[in-house]
Amino acid sequence: MKVLLTGGSGFIAAHILDQLLEHGHDVVTTVRSEEKGRKILENHKGVPQRKLSYVIVKDIAEEGAFDEVVVSDPPFDAVIHTASPYHFNITDPKKDLLDPAIIGTTEILKAIKASAPNVKRVAITSSFAAITNPKNHPRIYSEEDWNPVTMEEALEDPVSSYRASKTFAERAAWDFVRNEKPNFELATLCPPLVFGPVIHYLNSLQAINTSNARIRDSMQGKMIDELAPTGSFIWVDVRDLAIAHVKAIEIPEAAGKRFFVTAGHTCNRDIAECIRKNFPESRSQLPPESTEGDIQGEVYKYDNSRSRKILGLEYRSLEECVKDTVKSLHAVGA
Ligand code: NDP
Repeated sequence: MKVLLTGGSGFIAAHILDQLLEHGHDVVTTVRSEEKGRKILENHKGVPQRKLSYVIVKDIAEEGAFDEVVVSDPPFDAVIHTASPYHFNITDPKKDLLDPAIIGTTEILKAIKASAPNVKRVAITSSFAAITNPKNHPRIYSEEDWNPVTMEEALEDPVSSYRASKTFAERAAWDFVRNEKPNFELATLCPPLVFGPVIHYLNSLQAINTSNARIRDSMQGKMIDELAPTGSFIWVDVRDLAIAHVKAIEIPEAAGKRFFVTAGHTCNRDIAECIRKNFPESRSQLPPESTEGDIQGEVYKYDNSRSRKILGLEYRSLEECVKDTVKSLHAVGA
């Protein structure tokens, strides 16, 4: 298949790109600058241009951002939309988070419907942020659950703004398909915190993606006095999530479905223990085993059976994930 992948410079998209190539697909990826596009090609020197190229989309929140990009010869068969801001350094929640997430999603769907009739499947990276109900967790989370966040709550603080951006964007995508009855079928992927090896271009460790920052901070001794009290959360390895995206465009039964893609519970203490076990030289940077400050255990349960049954996912362990992430961070200078 020929696939359009948005946000190719991102942490998750870099892994999706490699999985797409491994599965024999041709990829055109969007990036915000020539420099970012060139870096991707430099990292794939042996891959011919017909299999991998890039186009510039500076801002997905702009009207018509994808109008020309979705037109290609030969035409695209599928689209994977990952681009969306995931950080909390915001000054204006609407401009910095909500607009790119929501308008970015509706613009690409509109453009595909108008100008890319060959596209049969679109997969969108949503999030557990669009599932969770942080004020009132159900006993078990599944694809049936939706974050009930309102626009008023969306403007309260950066975390609520990010969660709302993902919720409203995913809702907008399903509404579009229901109302517009386009040429393609939709699948959405809802991962919680995503950890894993960094293979995208990083200017510095400070520029690391938001979710892996937790592992970088443990390695750099930032949790040495106390484990940051973030509670128990759920996670997934980026390589499993990348496979999930590719399967979501390949497998007929994935059409019209949401996928809750998680490997299970973890906490900062578990991450510190994986580092301690596999990198004894890092022990002086880690909090002692007896350190208080983090909650262990399951606050809620999760049902990931759909992702296992339909996408055939087999989830990697936290130890494998943390080990490979730390190795990749050592390679970029940590
Ligand atoms: P990254 O920050 O590494 O990637 C985000 C990508 O989106 C980058 O390529 C970025 O481009 C691009 N982007 C952001 N805003 C714009 C914009 N206005 N116009 C054009 N491109 C834009 O984050 P992740 O890889 O972690 O996230 C990718 C997706 O996965 C997002 O949709 C995120 O919400 C979702 N997700 C991530 C989770 C995680 O734990 N990492 C968990 C759940 C969902 P540039 O680099 O040039 O700014």
